[in-house]
Amino acid sequence: MSKDYFYDPNNRTKITAGSRRATLKDGYRHKGMRKKLVQQLQKKGITDARILEAIGTLPRHFFLDKAFEEWAYQDKPFPIAKEQTISQPFTVAYQTALLNIQKGDKILEIGTGSGYQASILSMLGAKVFTIERQETLYLSAKKLNRELKIPRINFYYKDGFLGIPHLAPFDKILVTAGAKEKPQQLLQQLTIGGQMVIPIGDDTQVMYRITRKSEQEYIDEQFDKFKFVPFLSGLEKD
Ligand code: SAH
Repeated sequence: MSKDYFYDPNNRTKITAGSRRATLKDGYRHKGMRKKLVQQLQKKGITDARILEAIGTLPRHFFLDKAFEEWAYQDKPFPIAKEQTISQPFTVAYQTALLNIQKGDKILEIGTGSGYQASILSMLGAKVFTIERQETLYLSAKKLNRELKIPRINFYYKDGFLGIPHLAPFDKILVTAGAKEKPQQLLQQLTIGGQMVIPIGDDTQVMYRITRKSEQEYIDEQFDKFKFVPFLSGLEKD
């Protein structure tokens, strides 16, 4: 990995590197708060050391407005622009764990939002393609990513229901918005043996992991209940 990347999880010393924007400062206080957050996640049953390491390394406060720095390390979702939310750290860890990320996995994420989840996936060595339907969020997540120099993330302003057919198949697909039903077009973009993690339901959603067994055959597993912002079709522009 190039020396320019601040968030190489293999070399924690780079994290303190300065940044061009005053808001992108990561100090001992932030690190202390992250450590506590990681301990909370462990208590809640997150065991994957690589995921805990990534969450303990990536400054979540960079993904929120400066005014909300104090909130960044609570295990809660938080409002971002356009009435959307940055997922709760527990949810990020939970979905990431279900995806069983391997280095080099090609992953499609639906719902870029703040870009935090995509960054965690990149830190685990995945190549990430992330789609957002809100132009404002797409632009700000992409800009922040350039500043943080987190590698292997490609941003798209698109309707996630369609996926990215010309880049398919994907090893994994992660949906971070609540779907009413299984998105058929996305399922077709999985590799054989590939997996999709997606919350499905109306008011609250059940976390599904869908594995593509063959060209036509998919197997479902169901996990815990969550509450996500809705998976909506069409684009929103400012
Ligand atoms: N992964 C995000 C959390 C996102 S919240 C993070 O780490 O911050 C869910 C996001 O899904 C919202 O930003 C919402 O605008 C987006 N979304 C909903 N429907 C979508 C669609 N059809 N295509 C792409 N993005 C969508």
